[in-house]
Amino acid sequence: MACFEKVYSLDDLRTWTRREPSFAVLGKPIAHSLSPKMHNAAFAAARERRPELTEYRYFRFEIAPEELSETLPLFFEKNFHGLNLTIPHKVAVLPALKKLSPEAEIIGAANTLVRDDALGGWRGENTDGRGFARAAEMQLGATLAGTHIVLLGAGGAARAIAATALAQNCASLTIVNRSRERAETLIADLCAFFPKEKISFLSSCDIQNLTTEEPALIVNATSLGLKPDDPSPFPPELLRAGMAVYDTTYGSHTSALVAAARERNLPAADGRSMLAWQGALAFELWTRIPAADTFPLMFRELS
Ligand code: NDP
Repeated sequence: MACFEKVYSLDDLRTWTRREPSFAVLGKPIAHSLSPKMHNAAFAAARERRPELTEYRYFRFEIAPEELSETLPLFFEKNFHGLNLTIPHKVAVLPALKKLSPEAEIIGAANTLVRDDALGGWRGENTDGRGFARAAEMQLGATLAGTHIVLLGAGGAARAIAATALAQNCASLTIVNRSRERAETLIADLCAFFPKEKISFLSSCDIQNLTTEEPALIVNATSLGLKPDDPSPFPPELLRAGMAVYDTTYGSHTSALVAAARERNLPAADGRSMLAWQGALAFELWTRIPAADTFPLMFRELS
């Protein structure tokens, strides 16, 4: 088994003897993560131009929420240079960081950590929002500026997308979520940075009452779509000309939402391009190699 296919644990980290620069993604569950595949391919491709990256390797670690605070100083001590965070660590990690980028602060979550030797710890960044913006532009030709956005979901991914859409001056943002409480917390946090007139909430139960102006971008940031038999989180009968769909979920199947949009000849894309862009932007933070150079390779690895 290749080193990056194995799932490592906190016990493996405690006895870690590798001294060369290492990178990792931390989450629970983590076995499904495609990040090691993308990043190890990018390190391999960069070696010719940047021989100092030859020994750089990226691993995956299954880390439970109660283990996170112990692992971060250990990763630092064991010469890890960068970390990615996924469910359930993106928000919980914030108190353990030495510094937070303005972007991660507005989003209220970090998906990328950068080693900072001067601070003796980790700096938190968030590349999910910019990754989404680049993906939507590349695959749908959709700029967020001036667009009406209907965002399904209010979790970590939705936070990054909402903050980026508002920062890029979208025309309006309608957040549709199953639980009102989570959406209200997100909206209160967004209103600290952005004009509240642009932001509204609609309960998933009332989605039939949705009125949208054109051009509208429907974004799925719920977990519905991950499994092949998941129903569409957006009623297909509400899809109409002038809309485009970006579904942040991805897998070997086509989600019900993307399929419904394509049946109606609407532009639609799944979350692989966002995954590759957020990875390429993290890679840029660690290596200074421009994300645009790394993206095509990472995207190919997912296809
Ligand atoms: P969270 O757990 O933080 O949020 C999950 C969201 O999905 C919540 O809004 C939740 O609603 C909603 N939800 C969950 N189950 C259902 C359901 N059965 N019906 C309706 N709504 C539901 O997860 P993340 O925000 O981190 O991830 C959300 C999605 O985004 C995932 O599918 C993930 O794969 C994808 N993602 C993709 C990325 C990419 O690069 N392509 C990057 C990050 C995430 P409620 O508040 O009511 O519980």
